[in-house]
Amino acid sequence: MTTQPGKLPARDFEEIRLAEALERGRCPICDARQEASYAALRGLAREGATDRGFRDQIDKGVGFCQPHSVSLSRMELLQTSSQLATAVLLDAILRRRLAALKKLTGSDASGQGRGLAELGNPRCPVCVRVTEASGAAVRRLLQLSADGAWSTGLGTGEICLDDVNSLWLAAAVSPKDVQQRWLAIVAIQLKRLDVLQKALADYAHNSTSDRRHLITREQQEAAAASVRLFGGSPDRDRTR
Ligand SMILES: [Zn+2]
Ligand SMILES: [Zn+2]
Repeated sequence: MTTQPGKLPARDFEEIRLAEALERGRCPICDARQEASYAALRGLAREGATDRGFRDQIDKGVGFCQPHSVSLSRMELLQTSSQLATAVLLDAILRRRLAALKKLTGSDASGQGRGLAELGNPRCPVCVRVTEASGAAVRRLLQLSADGAWSTGLGTGEICLDDVNSLWLAAAVSPKDVQQRWLAIVAIQLKRLDVLQKALADYAHNSTSDRRHLITREQQEAAAASVRLFGGSPDRDRTR
């Protein structure tokens, strides 16, 4: 591993990215998720419309979830200033969906229920990539926690609440040594959350108009940190 002063030791690009996220006060797993969705959307915006394999998948029922339909259109606009690939892909998905919906009108009620439940899962390929990336980041971080600097970084880092859960879930089914390491990390995380909760309660207490002048900088920061804790903290400024 290469180590620079004040930096977490990292052996490859994945680890550098996880380290960067932690060092910049971002949740490394949210960051991995965002990176994966950007990469998938970039690829689809560039080649999705002409990729025969992907068109075949659409014919088998693959589509986009709501947020990734919007993200695809935004990504294409950003990359090519056009919406052609998005239109081609959404047209192919809509055609298949329309045929399925028309077929349902001839089914009995239970057939309609089953058919609609099936259609309710968009089988979004971007979501699939995001889930894979999130799982890979969790596994890698638990491996890296064997290193003292990483263990400290994970204990004090701004990991969002959902991803504290995902790390803990994965640690709980890992070998004993990983479980032990995680319990030491989560003990520090819970202290961080204790401090945050108290500052947030003080902020809320001081939020009435007659007490607003009593709000401290720490309380203000706690309010923003609590939104990151619940909402995740991807790097919105990322351009790569
Ligand atoms: Zn997260
Ligand atoms: Zn999706």
